Amino acid sequence: MSGFKEMNHNELVAQLQFFKDIGVESLAVGAVGEAQERAASGNASPLGAHRAPLQDLESVRAEIGDCQRCKLAPKRTNIVFGSGNPSAELVFVGEAPGYDEDQQGLPFVGRAGQLLTKIIESINFKREDVYICNVLKCRPPENRNPEPDEVAACNPFLKKQLAAIRPKVVCCLGTFAAQTVIQTAAPISRLRGKFFDLDGMRVIATFHPAYLLRSPEKKREVWEDMKQIRAELFRLRS
Ligand code: URA
Repeated sequence: MSGFKEMNHNELVAQLQFFKDIGVESLAVGAVGEAQERAASGNASPLGAHRAPLQDLESVRAEIGDCQRCKLAPKRTNIVFGSGNPSAELVFVGEAPGYDEDQQGLPFVGRAGQLLTKIIESINFKREDVYICNVLKCRPPENRNPEPDEVAACNPFLKKQLAAIRPKVVCCLGTFAAQTVIQTAAPISRLRGKFFDLDGMRVIATFHPAYLLRSPEKKREVWEDMKQIRAELFRLRS
């Protein structure tokens, strides 16, 4: 991950354009950004040593197979398992595939996915550096909310994916991912922006990119959450 200092002129212009696009009006860079990272590094305990994975990602995918465990199976085109770096230090968890994801078998490839890519790049990761997956691996009809039996059938595989990847930080996108991963009924407005400890991972929630497309004024808060993720990863690496 590189900082502003390592960017060339074109990269810096592109980055600043992105901040403008997502509605960021002022930036804390240089001394302030680094001071935030230093402050974050001083006041939280380091991650414990990770346990060895019980299963790797490929065997989790193999265990899912041609899944018929819930009522979404007959209507899906493709299972959307997840994509990205199997050793990622940062994992994003969304809700469920939409139309484009169901067609392509890949997570976050529609409009919300394009915004997610920009959000990932805002903290100087490439999309392929991180891992992206969903609570549900099959598309709910008409993109309706996931139902409890579907979450119950699919959540064990999300847990196995996280156990296989062993990321330092998990970022939950939206209410369903946050409530499922953090195991709470609290609303996203209360959950976002703070870290929770879960099985040796630091878990944070932020607004879902699809919500940001409808409510662009919330992008500023997502940017604040992304800065926290960047600072936390910086702290955990040092
Ligand atoms: N929304 C999600 O939650 N996940 C996707 O993969 C796409 C859109």
